[in-house]
Amino acid sequence: MAKIYFLGECLVELRELDDATMAQSFAGDVYNSAVYLKRCFPKITVSMVTAIGSDRLSEKMLTRFKSENLDTQLVFRHPSKVAGMYLIETDDAGERRFTYWRNDSAARKVVEFLSDGVVDQLATADMFFFSGIPLAIIEKHSRNAFWQKLESLKQAGVKLVFDPNYRSQLWAHKEDAIEQFDRAFHLSDIALPGVEDLTVLYGIESAQEAVGFCQQYDLEEIVVKDGPKSVVTLAGTERLSHQISPVTNVIDTTSAGDAFNGVYLGARLSGRTIAEAVQLGAKAAGTVIQHPGAIAPLAAFKQAMSEAGI
Ligand code: ADP
Repeated sequence: MAKIYFLGECLVELRELDDATMAQSFAGDVYNSAVYLKRCFPKITVSMVTAIGSDRLSEKMLTRFKSENLDTQLVFRHPSKVAGMYLIETDDAGERRFTYWRNDSAARKVVEFLSDGVVDQLATADMFFFSGIPLAIIEKHSRNAFWQKLESLKQAGVKLVFDPNYRSQLWAHKEDAIEQFDRAFHLSDIALPGVEDLTVLYGIESAQEAVGFCQQYDLEEIVVKDGPKSVVTLAGTERLSHQISPVTNVIDTTSAGDAFNGVYLGARLSGRTIAEAVQLGAKAAGTVIQHPGAIAPLAAFKQAMSEAGI
């Protein structure tokens, strides 16, 4: 049975409802992708690789992972750190503002938990997904160890999957991100970048240019997301431009790319073609953006995906 690991950080999410009340949930790019993959392809084993604390919210986070049917064997407990957190505020004009408390989060320490035994376990997977967000947050002194572990996974035949998901506020210097992303692209088998991320870092303006950029690396599958415009893929010599049906009722684009990634990878792990996987990923993303927050309600999401044959 297919198996995929998602390494990164899940955060406690707080959203202001009114002056006196907050709604609390959980979100984070790799977690969002894991949730949507599992919801669509329940037979695939979908595992989170992260570190949480022993605090009450970390406990609730673990319970949430389990309620989304994610495997939590590699969710480690840091003895003194806590889960990271962020607040979403929406001003009168509807503009959203994010404030983060994650500089000292347990997830920054995840590499410390990746012992040889854990790497052996990771090596049994079909795919291992990571993004530019964990690359930004893992402590600098752990980076070499992280890359060595990824090399071992690659040698063991695990397909490494990377989405740059560039967040400028997480990087002190753009050059540092460029250097780390270069290592990630070099090592990966599948890349799932969004054009916007590459615009800020490399001045790339179109999906075709983004594919050209990725071609300098030895990638088996390149999947470039360009919002509602298109998805362009290249695998071997087959370059395809996939049409996306634009959604007019966009409520919140948070996690569109994450939903796409999760469902695309689930479809590929289930033997679907690239074209089929793009359509399913796009259907998932197009559904998620019609709901507020990173994680769409289960019933509405399942209903939309059943219309797509899932
Ligand atoms: P990211 O969130 O990584 O920046 P994109 O903005 O390219 O990625 O969006 C990811 C996916 O979400 C797209 O490939 C597309 O399938 C879907 N999507 C985004 N915006 C829209 C939209 N307005 N209508 C329909 N689908 C959309």
